Amino acid sequence: MSEQILQNFINGKWTSSATGRFREVQNPATAEILAKVPISSAAELDQAAQVAHKAFLEWRNVPVTKRIQYLFKLKDLLEANFEDLSRTITMEHGKTLEESRGEMRRAIENVEVACGTPTLMMGDFVENIAPGIDEYMIRQPIGVTGIISPFNFPGMIAFWFIPYAVAAGNTVVIKPSSRVPITMFKLVKLMEESGLPAGVVNMVNGGSEIVDAILDHPLIKSASFVGSTPVAMHVYSRGSAHGKRVQAMGGAKNPVLILPDADVKVTTDILIDSAFGNAGQRCLAAATAIMVGEADKIFIPALAEAASRRVVGYGLNPEVQMGPVITPQDKVRIEGLIQQGVDEGAKMLVDGRKAVIPGYEKGNFIRPTILTDVPVDGLIAKTEVFGPVLGIMHVNTVEQGIEILNNGAFGNMGCIFTSNGSVARKFRNEAEAGNIGINIGVAAPMAFFPFSGWKDSFFGTLHGQGKHAIEFFTQTKIVIERWPKEWTRKF
Ligand code: NAD
Repeated sequence: MSEQILQNFINGKWTSSATGRFREVQNPATAEILAKVPISSAAELDQAAQVAHKAFLEWRNVPVTKRIQYLFKLKDLLEANFEDLSRTITMEHGKTLEESRGEMRRAIENVEVACGTPTLMMGDFVENIAPGIDEYMIRQPIGVTGIISPFNFPGMIAFWFIPYAVAAGNTVVIKPSSRVPITMFKLVKLMEESGLPAGVVNMVNGGSEIVDAILDHPLIKSASFVGSTPVAMHVYSRGSAHGKRVQAMGGAKNPVLILPDADVKVTTDILIDSAFGNAGQRCLAAATAIMVGEADKIFIPALAEAASRRVVGYGLNPEVQMGPVITPQDKVRIEGLIQQGVDEGAKMLVDGRKAVIPGYEKGNFIRPTILTDVPVDGLIAKTEVFGPVLGIMHVNTVEQGIEILNNGAFGNMGCIFTSNGSVARKFRNEAEAGNIGINIGVAAPMAFFPFSGWKDSFFGTLHGQGKHAIEFFTQTKIVIERWPKEWTRKF
């Protein structure tokens, strides 16, 4: 990929930002500069909001059956460009090609589900709520919607929102992560190729200035955000203060209970993949393994062995199982947190620091790292590391494990590994997390279910994906009507 200067997409045209400010997009495995992304201004966001509003006035009246035809076309284009998009994700983000393919598959599934919008946005009707009076509810689009995405899934996350918003008759302004903007640049090119009318999809690249401009803009009626908890809280409060609908997904620190009766091979493989897949940069990564009873004796050696075996390197190489972390600054931050854990009393089981990958010496690599005896009240137990680090704790009972989970600030995911159905059922009932895995390590909801974070992992009411997304991107209108027979004129 040559070093290109990315543009914004406003009113169906590719437009160079006028700011002259850029951020370099770097391949995290090779340190090669892939592109420069503009740090656009609030004035450029305003331009996008204005055209999106103008486009909305027409788009809302395009029949839903016609609106979804663009999604069918987009689905074909995504399939045709599947390999290129997956390679792009690996190059700018660092995850393995197989992980990138999995990500794009999940993005496409959201397009497929949104093709069902004619059914998903159907209203309700009750005849005769009083003599001769009927009442019904219709769903109408809300207007211009803002979509703000994080770095860790450059292709998938914006698709928790875009296809539903557009199919329901809204227009969108997308602000991709400036760390990984090339994938969305290519995806918006495909949306353009799908024939969507000018102004329905717009993209403005940049940083926090664009996010705040989205939250403040009177013509933008909603904000869909995914990112870290402090920024999610900021987005939720600032957007709400401006009267917008906001759905803001935040960070995570996912606990996984391991019982001694769990299958050793399956559990070890799944847990290692959950903790170290995507180099731990996944909001559904297993962050803390809570060993119940004798489980530690069985699983700690198995986990150590599997973590040490994981092949780390450039994600485009087929044998590689784990790529680098996103930036050199993140590598320093993550290694600092590992040291903090050790300083707090945790024991180093597998140390992934000081990783050097031959041929990729400039990459931001950290090998899988496992700490045991992590103190429950320490900073490392509570902080989202967002890197390839698994902490291990020990408890005597399932109840104590659930208590640790429920005392955590986040609620994105909780998992349990056991062969005991009754314990699994208790866990499912009592765990205070919105996505539950039972003998599953990454409980990522399919596109037809909501991505259901709780507590500090989510601010709002309606989540991304499926019916929740359609509800978020529509407002209900109630009509009560009366047509007395006596009023009917004779012809
Ligand atoms: P981030 O919060 O740094 O950035 C997210 C978006 O907000 C980006 O587009 C960024 O440009 C913008 N932004 C950053 N700082 C801002 C500020 N001060 N004001 C306004 N906007 C700002 O998140 P990230 O590092 O890109 O992504 C990783 C985080 O996202 C992790 O915490 C992870 O758990 C979380 N995440 C959550 C989910 C979920 O479903 N809950 C899914 C994926 C990622």
